[in-house]
Amino acid sequence: MEVLRSRNVDVGLSSRGYASVYRQFNFPGVDQDREELLTACLDRLTALKEIEEKLGKDARTEEVLEAARAAELKHSLGVPSKGDGRLDQIFKDESTHFLLRVSLAKTNEQRDFFLKTEANLLASRLGQAGSEAVLSVLKDFPDMSIEVVQRSEMVEFQVDLDAVARGPRRSPVSAGTVYYKVAFNLVPYHVAARRVLVRSGYAYVPENYLIDILVSQFRSSLSKSLADISKTSSFMARHQSFGPLLAEIQNHFYAIASEGHVKTSRFARGDLKRAELRSGDVPAGMPLCMANLMNKLKDSHHLKHGGRMQLGLFLKSCGLTMEESLSFWRDEFQKGSVASDRFDKQYAYSIRHTYGKEGRRKELSCYGCMKIINTTPGPGEHHGCPYKEFSEPRLKQSLSAIGVPAAEVAPIVSLAKENHYQLACGRTFMATNQTDPSEGAIVVTNPAEYFDRARTLRKEGATTAMDVDS
Ligand code: SF4
Repeated sequence: MEVLRSRNVDVGLSSRGYASVYRQFNFPGVDQDREELLTACLDRLTALKEIEEKLGKDARTEEVLEAARAAELKHSLGVPSKGDGRLDQIFKDESTHFLLRVSLAKTNEQRDFFLKTEANLLASRLGQAGSEAVLSVLKDFPDMSIEVVQRSEMVEFQVDLDAVARGPRRSPVSAGTVYYKVAFNLVPYHVAARRVLVRSGYAYVPENYLIDILVSQFRSSLSKSLADISKTSSFMARHQSFGPLLAEIQNHFYAIASEGHVKTSRFARGDLKRAELRSGDVPAGMPLCMANLMNKLKDSHHLKHGGRMQLGLFLKSCGLTMEESLSFWRDEFQKGSVASDRFDKQYAYSIRHTYGKEGRRKELSCYGCMKIINTTPGPGEHHGCPYKEFSEPRLKQSLSAIGVPAAEVAPIVSLAKENHYQLACGRTFMATNQTDPSEGAIVVTNPAEYFDRARTLRKEGATTAMDVDS
């Protein structure tokens, strides 16, 4: 499995942990398994989406912070205050934050999403950490002047402080509340809403507003950082190790945004029949990865293990029974140099195995796109995702061959070049199945589901045509 490594930098693993490093844009060293890191990033992204959903319902601040806490717990994002796993979890937290930061800097929509959800996640965490922890982080900021208001000053301004604290919709301030003196421009929202007393350029803020100062600093630093990253995002997209990872995160972002389009979990076994595979033609509606394997199989009457697994499991998920699969592969291999008895000895076992009839007797299902994309076929192998593996001319030619209109070929190839393989595949789906573009982008996550949906659309189209004819 691929392991990402980058320069070793100080990631600031102080006792204050994540909060102190979020304000800098120093990408932490990454030395984690790629799959593990990607899973952690997608968990964080899903949690942020749950926070966004709450924000979209015009919920009160406390409700949003509660939702952030729940999402953090549900997706195991939290950093324990002590224990063996603490450093690992801090490291994971920082890595995922910065990878998402880089991945989601490209468009206004992505930047806005990341900014508001991360700010709420941080506010929720700081709320749990308490004022003392927040203050210690604030004091680390360069040029941050923040000091406790002395008793003599409190006496001098007590009447004004009480008046501000009693104003409409104010946070209640208890008698023993500690006040801090900060530059008034650090709390612009509170100043504008007259929630704090301002004297001689300083705002007098109660301790329960300290979190707002830190979150506000975080927001402006993050906003600037996202704007800077957006200018270099195409460079990052081309990075050999990080590019595919960043593209995967973006794909997931779009998949979440287009909820209900393609969901692996809802896919049930399809209705493909052996008879449909008898002709020399590839059944209509197959995604490019499977159409390519079918063509190679029909040309050479053989596929290496990776190709047999990728295509075999796909056909199984599309509806072929075990007997139909055995018959299909035996017929194809016999047209080449594999006699029936050799097929039975050498290949039949693994087909029965995928149907749970041999070995551990566990049924296997179609590989998802991520697994296919992340495999690298060797010489003479034809599995993998064509949007990633094919050269540009070959991809163009293959797209034309499956009926993608000429005007759509270039945008699809361009998505593939930017490592957006699943989006490119979704665009191919739209181009070959005449789907309504107003439904938004499609991110393909599973080839069997692609095929099932294409068949459903074709059947619906045929029914409509018959209705019109009759
Ligand atoms: S995106 Fe998925 S379905 Fe499409 S070609 Fe690649 S692996 Fe196949």
